[in-house]
Amino acid sequence: MTDRREFLRMGTGAALAAAGAGVAPADRLAANEPAGGIQRYVRLGRTELQVSDISLGSSSNSDPKVVAHAFDRGVNFFDSAESYRWGGAEEAIGKALKGRREKVILTSKTKAGASESRGEIMTSLEKSLRRLQTDYVDIYFNHSVNDVDRLRNQEWLEFTEQAKRQGKIRFRGVSGHGSRLAECIDYTIDNDIADVILVAYNFAQDPDFYDKLRHVFHWSDIQPDLPRLLEKAKKKDVGVVAMKTLMGARLNDMRAYERPGGTFSQAAFGWVLSDPNVDALVISMSSTSEVDEFVAASGTSTTNAYHRQLLERYAFMRAGQYCQPGCNVCAASCPQHVQIAEVLRTRMYDVDYGDRSLAIAEYAALGDGAAACIDCETQQCLGACPLGVPIARFTRQTALRLA
Ligand code: SF4
Ligand code: SF4
Repeated sequence: MTDRREFLRMGTGAALAAAGAGVAPADRLAANEPAGGIQRYVRLGRTELQVSDISLGSSSNSDPKVVAHAFDRGVNFFDSAESYRWGGAEEAIGKALKGRREKVILTSKTKAGASESRGEIMTSLEKSLRRLQTDYVDIYFNHSVNDVDRLRNQEWLEFTEQAKRQGKIRFRGVSGHGSRLAECIDYTIDNDIADVILVAYNFAQDPDFYDKLRHVFHWSDIQPDLPRLLEKAKKKDVGVVAMKTLMGARLNDMRAYERPGGTFSQAAFGWVLSDPNVDALVISMSSTSEVDEFVAASGTSTTNAYHRQLLERYAFMRAGQYCQPGCNVCAASCPQHVQIAEVLRTRMYDVDYGDRSLAIAEYAALGDGAAACIDCETQQCLGACPLGVPIARFTRQTALRLA
């Protein structure tokens, strides 16, 4: 096993060539066969909570059986939000974990707006508590923050203090995956307004991985900030949880290249968990087989040569298709002020995750979305993406599919 720094000394061209051959010798496979359950619990920063390194995200699940299966496999951290499955995700967690509350760590989230009152936020929390069948959540997040004004809202801060005094929440957090993620996390840490951050972070955002591939794809540097911010969070002992760790999660595209103990998801998880500034990850689990596959990667905090081949192959396949979370390089290219990165995130839910209902809900939350792209003649966004994403084509398709 080698770590990410050793990987930097390896040749990318050779790895890609080997990946292109399609079949890797058995002796290059990982030694870590699925172990059957969670292997590692980690300290989540200053909260002192001990959470499973791979935990359940519920954005795509409303089936209590999936939640119960994850619990049986040792998952003890269940992440939710009021918006997931229109409350169905919280209801599933509530049903599955009834009577087990003291053994698990629950979160929920609300999108507290810049002018929302503490009373409105409290109402949202209380609805979540009812669906979760509990008196408290361990961490309550201001959800999907992409605007510093939402973080400046004193009502959110006063709400969290009040809810803590009332025993309805234990810790407060900030979650984000949008184009202004770095700016929001910077503000959060500087102002010490979160005990935990939940951020989109995967191998392709790691400069170590990225630099290695840049000469192959002629990519430019677009996201230098996130690793720095995670380090900054760690220095303040803020708990760091990663999400969107699979770079679009097109798992079926990789099946032909996987081997027992050497799956793409295991490789991607291993990369994220080998980052000393990341405590744990949550991953959307929507079937018992997904639980088994993902939990099998627990305890992995290194990547081996075969894992790296898988990651590079995946990055190669996704080149020019994937909009990087936290990037906003193309924002100024659209004279119609289309929120390109946000629109492309909803496209990812639709096309990559195959989660059409989530995509439609998130697209609707964008207001006009990409309506301007349908008849746009100038297409000034063309060429604005350093990663080669064909913005105009993708945003137009998204408008036509999701509006
Ligand atoms: S389309 Fe390209 S430039 Fe625009 S946000 Fe996505 S990755 Fe960044
Ligand atoms: S196609 Fe036109 S409206 Fe759409 S993002 Fe590009 S420039 Fe803006």
